[in-house]
Order: sequence, then C-alpha cells, then structure tokens
Amino acid sequence: MYDTLISGGHLLTMAGDGVGFIENGAIAIDKGMIVAVGPRDEIEAKDEPRERIDATGCIVMPGLVDAHLHSAATTGRGWAQEISPWMASGYGPLMRHAIEEDAPLWTLLALMEGVANGTTTFGDYEFPMNELIHSHIAIGSRAVVCEGVTELNWANREQWIADGWVPGEPTPLDRELGEQTLANELDLYARWHGHDDGRIRVIFGPHAADFLSKEMLLKVQEEARKRGAALHLHTAQDARENKATEQRYGLRAVPYLDSIGLLAEDLIAVHLSVTTDDEVDLVARRGARMICCANSIGIIDGVLPPARRFLEAGGVVGFGTDQSPGNNSHNIFAEMRANAMFAKIKTEDPLVMPAWQVLRAATIGGATALGIGDLTGSLEVGKAADLIFVDATRPPMAPVLLEPARNIVPNLVYAESGSNVVLNMVAGRIIYRDGTYTLIDEAETKQQVADAAKRFTDKVAADPGVNELPIVQLTRTGRH
Ligand SMILES: [Zn+2]
Repeated sequence: MYDTLISGGHLLTMAGDGVGFIENGAIAIDKGMIVAVGPRDEIEAKDEPRERIDATGCIVMPGLVDAHLHSAATTGRGWAQEISPWMASGYGPLMRHAIEEDAPLWTLLALMEGVANGTTTFGDYEFPMNELIHSHIAIGSRAVVCEGVTELNWANREQWIADGWVPGEPTPLDRELGEQTLANELDLYARWHGHDDGRIRVIFGPHAADFLSKEMLLKVQEEARKRGAALHLHTAQDARENKATEQRYGLRAVPYLDSIGLLAEDLIAVHLSVTTDDEVDLVARRGARMICCANSIGIIDGVLPPARRFLEAGGVVGFGTDQSPGNNSHNIFAEMRANAMFAKIKTEDPLVMPAWQVLRAATIGGATALGIGDLTGSLEVGKAADLIFVDATRPPMAPVLLEPARNIVPNLVYAESGSNVVLNMVAGRIIYRDGTYTLIDEAETKQQVADAAKRFTDKVAADPGVNELPIVQLTRTGRH
C-alpha cells in the first residue's frame, strides 16, 4: 500500500532532456515522495493506493518554480512602471513607507497568487525573513529563502547628500549594517533551514556587487560555504553596478566577481541585465546558474536579460517574477510567454527559446538553479510530489491534439495564463484545489489585505514630498 495514486491525464514529467510526455499516465506517491511514474496500466498493476485522484482531462506536470521574487513588495504592486529611473521616481520613495508589521501579509498575497497559478516553489529574497517565513509555512509551498546581506544604508541618504554624494553615483557603504544583516541571515539559517521535512531551505543573499564591499562579499561566501548553502546574488543588474565596481576595483561587475572567486557553482546569478556576450559566457562557464526575470526587467528597465545566450553557453536558467511594483504579477506562466516571445522579437528569429526549453526553465531549470534539482522540478521516482493539474478541457488548452503532432507544450507556454490550474500539490499535500486554498482562509486574508493597503496608502499620502514624484503625477494628470 502507498498513499496516493494520480491517474489519467497527459503527463509532462520533464525527465530526460525533453518534456517526458506520457499519455494516460500515473504517479504513485508515498510519504510525499514519488515512488512510481509511468503508463497508467503499468502503475495500477503494481500495488494499491489508499487514495485515488483522477486526472482525466488534465495536464499533470511538475509545479512551476519562481526562483527569484521579493514577496513583500506586493504592498506597492503597480507602483513602478513607465517611470525612469524606476527606483528613484516611484518605488524607492513610496516603499520607504511600507509598514513592516504588515509584511507577512504581503508575502502571503504573493504566494497565493503564485500557488493559484501553478507555482510550487518560491525563491524568496526578502526582509525580514524570520517573520515572513511563517507565510511560506502557512500556505504549504516549498521555499528557498534568504534575507539579504547589504552594506547600503538608504537611511543615510540625506547625510550622503550633505557630504557631497550625487544620486546615480556609487554610494558609501556601511560595514556595521553589513555585519548586522549577515547576523540576521545566520540566525535565519540556524532557525529554519530544513524545517518542515526540508520543505524550507535557507541560502545566503549578498545583495549585489555594488551593495557590499569585497571583504563583506567574501565573508558571506565563506559563511555560506561552511554550510553548503548557495549564494543568491543580483548580478550585473544595472549600469550603476558596473560603474561602482569600476570605480572601486577597476573592473565591471562580472570580471570583478570573477577576480574574487564569486563566479562558481554555488552562485545563483540573478538578472545579468548589463553584460557583454563574453561576460554571459564566463558566468555560464564557471558553473553559476542564471535566473531571468523577463517581465520585471522588461518593464522597469526596458531590457531583456540574456537567458537565451546563457542557455546556448551551456548554463542552467530558471525564471523569477522579481517584484510586483513593476512586473506586476507573480505568475510563471506570464514569465514563460514573455521569455519565449521577447527572445524571438529581439533576435527576429522565431526558432529561439522554443516552448519546450522555456517549460524546462520554468520547472527543472528553476529547481536546479535554486540547488534543489535533486528534490523537485520533474516527476521522477525519488523526488518530492510537487505537481500541478492544468484543466485541458477548456480553452486555451482545448482541443488537445496528440497525433501526429502534439500541441500541449506550445499551448501551455503561449496561451495558458494559469487560470486553468485546478490543483497544486507540494510534497504530496494538496495546497490548492478548484479555486480554494486548503491551508489558509482566503476570505480573511482578502479583508486583511484591504485594511493593510489603506494603512499603507494613508501613510504614503501623509508625506508631502511624494506629490512631485513622476509616478504620482501619472495619477494626478489622469493617466493612471
Ligand atoms: Zn531581486
């Protein structure tokens, strides 16, 4: 006897190097792990389950992996686009008023959106994670979290300006803040790594090459390596970063990071937005993984990160939703479509970033990027039962065509929005089914979100300085 049999449906296992399609397949699950997967007849003949789930009419596939997001930023969803520079003209001055006690609620909202749209694993880079972790535990999804280590103290901005600092220039660094945030990260690791049968994992998040000194970056790397934890690093995100490392160390961000030994297999390089082809190839060659946030970086910076080149260089790519002020969603279906479309448009070549490759990046690619490719990201014996059902009896997934050419994978990538996700299972436990979260109270959360949004906007509106911001002017002049 084993716990659960999922049978029927169109299986996309992601095993091997394609999509691992099995028609009328079955998956046997025991104690949260996959114990058998294959054609239905074969699996059903083996042993009896305690519970059966009929997947007829559905696509059964690995849960999606959102490998990089800042979950609590949903408080300012939609407040960072069509302005430039996005950080200084909207996001920064507005988000300064975010209410810390409400942060776990905003994290929960981001996770709810992801779960309803098929995400089972979240690579959350957010502060204060020692509090936010409770939202990850509550909803039941898988999490690879970090809190972030930084020496950039925006609270000192007025003092920098008094000392002659000009916005856009590399900022002074604050070692005390660096030590304090590293201590928080170590505390997070000690408390939560491996929690919930390993469903919660903690890695280390040095913010970026321009946010930390060389000494601090190396110190974070040393502490992470002592624990076998990866480094989650914003890498070559913008021109300011290249300028800062050039001024401080005489090298652009990527060659600088290479010169101090940061480009290695334990590095998760997020963005790579401002890179040369040679730099992209170098990061891939060193064995680091890339996370591409195509919608976020497209909207806030008008740039397409080089996921296509990174894959061509033999690297592993996962997708992230980054931040909802300027994405404006935590939906990996939207990232799949964006990655496939943007790459084609940019290169004027319809053959680049094909749907199957994009689907792999959104599942096994993201899992591998986060260092848990042995645990999730594909439906294989020995892996956790992290999977979703997508109803294929309705548009845009219907009709399902199987022979002589299948249409499932292209329709998932180019047409499905996530609204046909009818089941989300993590480690064998159903956390979302037919529009209902099984572990949290959605109605109560909705009311809390409305109340918290009011508290936040009241606080922002009380700051007379915000009225001149370009993002506020878009509202004042009737454009938003
Ligand atoms: Zn980020």
